[in-house]
Amino acid sequence: MEEKMADYTPIIGLEVHIELATASKLFCGCSADHFGKPANTAVCPVCLGLPGALPYTNKAAVESTIKFGLALNCSISKFSKFDRKHYFYADLPKGYQISQYDMPLCTGGKWNTIDITRVHLEEDTGKLVHTEVEGDKVSLVDFNRSSVPLMELVTEPDFRDVDSVIFFLEEIQRIVRYLGISTADMEKGSMRLEANISLSPDGSLSPYKIELKNINSFRFLKKAMLFEITRQTELLDKGEIPVQETRGWDERKSATVSQRTKEEAQDYRYFPEPDIPPMRFSDEEIEKIKGSIPELPSQKRDRFIKDYSLPANYADVLVTDKGRADYFEEAVKQGGKHNVSPKTLADLLVNKNLDREFPEAPALVAKVVELTKRDYVGKGETEAAVEVVLAQNQKAVEDYKKGKGEVVGYLIGQVQKELKGKGDTGLTRELLLKKLHN
Ligand code: ZN
Ligand code: MN
Repeated sequence: MEEKMADYTPIIGLEVHIELATASKLFCGCSADHFGKPANTAVCPVCLGLPGALPYTNKAAVESTIKFGLALNCSISKFSKFDRKHYFYADLPKGYQISQYDMPLCTGGKWNTIDITRVHLEEDTGKLVHTEVEGDKVSLVDFNRSSVPLMELVTEPDFRDVDSVIFFLEEIQRIVRYLGISTADMEKGSMRLEANISLSPDGSLSPYKIELKNINSFRFLKKAMLFEITRQTELLDKGEIPVQETRGWDERKSATVSQRTKEEAQDYRYFPEPDIPPMRFSDEEIEKIKGSIPELPSQKRDRFIKDYSLPANYADVLVTDKGRADYFEEAVKQGGKHNVSPKTLADLLVNKNLDREFPEAPALVAKVVELTKRDYVGKGETEAAVEVVLAQNQKAVEDYKKGKGEVVGYLIGQVQKELKGKGDTGLTRELLLKKLHN
């Protein structure tokens, strides 16, 4: 007899770190653009954690974090502060990270059905470089990334399936890009993902939690979560409880692997950062930041579907990249003058990627018009057809003169019929209106 596998509900929560694309670092004037720079060329006493160096706060980083929090419907703390989080690691020169503990900038947000616990601001660490020097294996430290502003987003364990986790994370990436506050480039580590996942027989929270860490792509995270669901199901079915631990994804093994077992919660000995004054925000300041938030991807998606009658999957593809969405709208505007429908243009972008061939939207529209014109009958023939149709539709002509503008659409249709579909509707409309106004 086949053993029946119990049905478990995945309980998933997320922690996402996103590096902000500010000009300077969080607590000093060094360049925050660390990627690909020669090691230790963007450093100073503050971000090297030298004794006596005093940090000062980067206003743009704080505002970016508030902007992000507002985009996720968070409450913004009118009083907030930084705290020291102590732990020892070679790439953390001070022996503590300046982060936020009990008074994060943003709390209690909401995105669809997902509760956002908090969004706080902290400094990034340096980077270890494992290499060989004169035949010896050594670990070197590059502090260019030290103190680059980093936002941390934490969600409640509200996800119940893997696909909605990935959709949420992709949406977060789109949102920060729309806000222009981060490149959210996963290959460069500008966006880093962590998920905690456990299985529950009855939907209530489980007595254990597995943390998936250091995963640098949506694809790997999806594989890791699916692997964990299988692995944990097998353990639970045997009556075992999975060991509480941190696991990473090993692409070669196609498996999650144990990284660290946490016996008890680490004691970070948080305390308020004494060198940085707390932050206060007025309603006006918060309102001003709110006013600078552009149309977000989900709003744009809804508008494209409604205003341009686009299928949802077309809208999804177009809003993924804000530059592309802007290109599409520019093309729609141009296309409107030549009777090229938004749907036609969306199709050329989504299915044929023609925006690559025509970097400027007007050039694409011109090409579409040229291609369609080729089959059209000439002006003389169109004019003749217009005469015939007007003569046959005296009632419509009278209606038009009484103010019924909508009959024009009907008349264009009749001319098209006369021309066996080979009329240029733009030209037909022009000629019809000319005659009607005579
Ligand atoms: Zn510095
Ligand atoms: Mn963090």
